[in-house]
Amino acid sequence: MKPSFYDLNYSDLEMVINQNSLNISAASVLFNWHYKKKETAQCVDKIAQRSMDFFKNTFDFSLPEIDRVHESKNDRTVKFLFKLKDHHKIETVLIPFHNKYSICLSSQVGCAMNCSFCFTGKQGLKRNLIPSEIVGQFIIAWRWLAVNRPGEERILNIVFMGQGEPLHNFDAVKKACEIFLSKHGTSIGVQKITISTAGYIPGLKRWSEEIPGVNLALSLHSPIEEKRNELIPINKKYPLNDVLTAIDQIPLNKKQFITYEYILIKDFNDAADDAKKLGTLLAGKKAYINLIPFNSFPGSHYQSPDLDKIDRFKEVLDTFKIPTLIRAAKGDDVLAACGQLNSKNQTALSIN
Ligand code: SAH
Repeated sequence: MKPSFYDLNYSDLEMVINQNSLNISAASVLFNWHYKKKETAQCVDKIAQRSMDFFKNTFDFSLPEIDRVHESKNDRTVKFLFKLKDHHKIETVLIPFHNKYSICLSSQVGCAMNCSFCFTGKQGLKRNLIPSEIVGQFIIAWRWLAVNRPGEERILNIVFMGQGEPLHNFDAVKKACEIFLSKHGTSIGVQKITISTAGYIPGLKRWSEEIPGVNLALSLHSPIEEKRNELIPINKKYPLNDVLTAIDQIPLNKKQFITYEYILIKDFNDAADDAKKLGTLLAGKKAYINLIPFNSFPGSHYQSPDLDKIDRFKEVLDTFKIPTLIRAAKGDDVLAACGQLNSKNQTALSIN
């Protein structure tokens, strides 16, 4: 099987061109064609016939196929189910804001973290995605918008908050980020990419050197050890204090903050005392807190707290002067909200 063109970052592409004594100008032409214009056909922009033939014969230009599309009726969220070459399936979500979108990408088929509140974890880990399968989600979602919502094909933010633990597939996620960042292609600003992690320390240790400037979100969910152990089993291997120390070592630029995500689960971690402990833990850090009321999914035993409890939790955090946002669920009617992605359980999601 041919390697995918979409697995190459810009310097890989230049290397291939040099090794095969082709004209180096082909690199920017090809990146422009496939990533900026996002064309479906073979490149017809100015490039020597010899280079054209070489790329056509050497690389695979196919991308993940759309298996199903779920469009939310409540908001303009779109959830894609993609079919990969080996028939595994993954999900990607377009989250709307003012006729623009953030895209929530998957990094693995399933996930090994087995967090107790997350639907994806119930699938287990099937395999890592390769870079072309990560950037492919972006390109195909963009093309879908161009056809189905013309004029709205503006995906301005990328968040690695879909299926999988991105830091557990660091090399592929890193390469996908390099491709997104390339000035010759999609040219997405580094401050527009966020990687969310359950606290996988080996990946955090590589952050500063290898993906500097990319935004970091930590799924914190409880400042209390026993509770976090229950929610996020890898907390036993990589305890929260060590995770926070590793994060503190990542240099931030002036305007950069770390986002701490906190799922609010009824009668489990939603008390004023939990909020106080969370505030104490994060006080003084360059932190944003995202409160995410738990989104339920088939078979889960947790519940979302009442609204006044959520407001009360935020009020306590406000006393610590930490900017806190209550994140509204988008796309929950099509199970596209956080933690509702499970490409094995599609029958539960059949709405169209
Ligand atoms: N593995 C990474 C990225 C995937 S989860 C991580 O753990 O951060 C992306 C976000 O969705 C995380 O903050 C996660 O904790 C949250 N999430 C997972 N299940 C959820 C659920 N049922 N309700 C609300 N948020 C959930």
